Formats: sequence, C-alpha cells, structure tokens
Amino acid sequence: MPGTNFKNIGIKYRPIKSELKSKRKVLEPERVIRWPFMKAIREGYKKSFFPKINPYVEAYQFRDNAWALFEESMDGAGDLWMYLIEGPEKIMIIDTGFGVGDLKGLILKLVSDPEKPIICVNTHNHYDHCYGNAQFDECYCSIPELHLMRQKNNAHVWDYLFNEKGEGIWTEFDKNDVIEFVPWEPIGVENGHIFDLGKGYLVECVYITGHTAGQCGYYDHVNRDIFIGDANSCGAPQYEGEPFAENYSVQAKRDQLRLFKPRFDEVNGVFPGHGMIDQPSKALNYLLDACEWVCEHPDWVEEKKTRKHPATGVESVIYTKYIQEGSTLRFNRDNVYYPDDKKDLVLGRDLKAEDYPD
Ligand SMILES: [Zn+2]
Repeated sequence: MPGTNFKNIGIKYRPIKSELKSKRKVLEPERVIRWPFMKAIREGYKKSFFPKINPYVEAYQFRDNAWALFEESMDGAGDLWMYLIEGPEKIMIIDTGFGVGDLKGLILKLVSDPEKPIICVNTHNHYDHCYGNAQFDECYCSIPELHLMRQKNNAHVWDYLFNEKGEGIWTEFDKNDVIEFVPWEPIGVENGHIFDLGKGYLVECVYITGHTAGQCGYYDHVNRDIFIGDANSCGAPQYEGEPFAENYSVQAKRDQLRLFKPRFDEVNGVFPGHGMIDQPSKALNYLLDACEWVCEHPDWVEEKKTRKHPATGVESVIYTKYIQEGSTLRFNRDNVYYPDDKKDLVLGRDLKAEDYPD
C-alpha cells in the first residue's frame, strides 16, 4: 500500500475514547494505519463490556466462536489483544494480559457453556501476554520459551508498575484489581503440537521465534485463523548464556516461517498481539519477505537507532525494516544470523520438553 512507509515525523498522542477503568498516563504514539484502526474499532464497533466482571477488558466477537479481548497497556508499551476460542468441548485463551481484572470471569461470561474446561496458552513470556496466567493452573508455551516463562511465575511481576505511593506509573488503575498470585505450571510443547478443543476442533502451535527465544503462534484449523503474538519483531537474549539465544535472530524467524509457508494461502485471518486484527494471509508473506530481505541485506533498512538497555545499560543498534501495509520488523543488528550447527534446534527438530526440566 503506497504512502504507509513514511517516517513518524510530527507524531501525535491522542487518547481513544473508552469506558475502561484503566486510564493511560503515557499514550501510545499515533502509528500510521494502526492508530486509526484502533480508534475506529474501539469507538465505532460493537463490543461486549462487563465492567462489574472485568472493567479492564473490551471483547470484540470476530467469529461465531471467537473473540479478540482488548486491554490497555499498564506499562507504557502498546495496548494489547488476547484471543478467546470456544471449541465444541473446550475453550482456549491465547495470552492473558497484565493480570489486572478478572479475565477468567469474563471468559466464562462470553462463552455459551461456562462448564467447558479452559486451555491457557501463551505466545511468549512478556508482561503484557502472560501475567494473567495466575488464574489458570497450567499454561502452555513453546519449549524454547519455558526458561523465560518460569521466571515470570512469581508474585513480584507486577511490582514495577507502581511508584512508592502505590500508584500506576504509566497507567492509572486500582492496585487492588491485580489478581491474586497463585503459582501456575508452565508446560512446553513442540512445534506443530496439536490442542484438541473437542470433536476434531484442532489448534496447532506454530513456532515464529525472534521476539523472544520461543515466541510462537497458534493456528485454529477450523476458522483458519492464526494468532501470532509479537512475531513482528526480534529481541535479544536477556542474559549471558541464555538457552536458545540463536532463536532471537532474524534468520531463525525466517527459517520457521519458511516451514509454515506452504500453508500461508489457506490462512483466513492473521491476529497479532498488538495493532490491526484479522489481517489477510498476505501479512505472513510480507513478514517473511522482510525477513528474507534482512538476511540478504541486513544494512539496507529504513531506520537505525542506538539503544541503551534500561536494565543492563548495554548499548545495541536496533534496526527497523518496514513491512508492507504499515507494520515493521525490528531487529538487533548483532542478531541477524545464527550458527549453522543450531539449525536443528531452531527448526524444533527432536526438541522434547522433558529435555528441559526446571
Ligand atoms: Zn512481547
């Protein structure tokens, strides 16, 4: 789409009208396409909102049996989407947000049969995707994400959101609405693992790494929708010697996307963790195109910025390659490729959860 890949000059910050109990103190920048999309959907589209059950989440039904659940970011980053699928015998929740407000109660209100068991799965371990896990006993993720997910399984994950007075730093919300912490069990699954929601309603785990060591998507075989989490960016290992460090590379993302590529055309909707939802399958092609481009010409990108890591103080160069139709692929220049001998691990060959115990 022409005209979408220009730089964010004169960027604005305007609120989007909402009845949510959270009030952002630090607004999201008005990114091209993404911001008007969010404004249109949130101010103009039919939504379900049950403030007595959960005043922090808006639910948008996009299929007969599936909802996109919107929550504002509590820490100054991008507002987020979680996804809910009601299968014939089981319910699946994909990501659990910040853990502020009763997500489980909302799920049971939205589905037709609240007696059905809930399967909780995560795309990755970041604060905005898994802090609500404490409402669920078991939470599934990819095997390379297990070590990061285990670090988030503690009662202090919310501490950084508040100042000394107990007020939200980036977003105003009631501290008492943080869910009670109950330890949950992270369970790692292989690339291609199938979840059965009953009567042949299958959802498949699809590794699309890079953003974290084990970021993955979930592919609903019936609606042919894929929920890709934060697949549009690449991060960097979080500590020295981190397992699966090779998975942060653009090349790893490219190689995993190539594995799924034969099925791109059958995909109906692409649903990321932030921004525009229900994108056509070509969004996957565009993402793969960007990865192919970066692997061929890593220095030919639209933006280059030096960034100091807020915790470690280590400087790295963050590159941004524009993806067609308004999205971007962010990556760390030091992390474009992985060593050849890691290929089997990156592709998940013979990766078994029991090989990565606590
Ligand atoms: Zn993330």
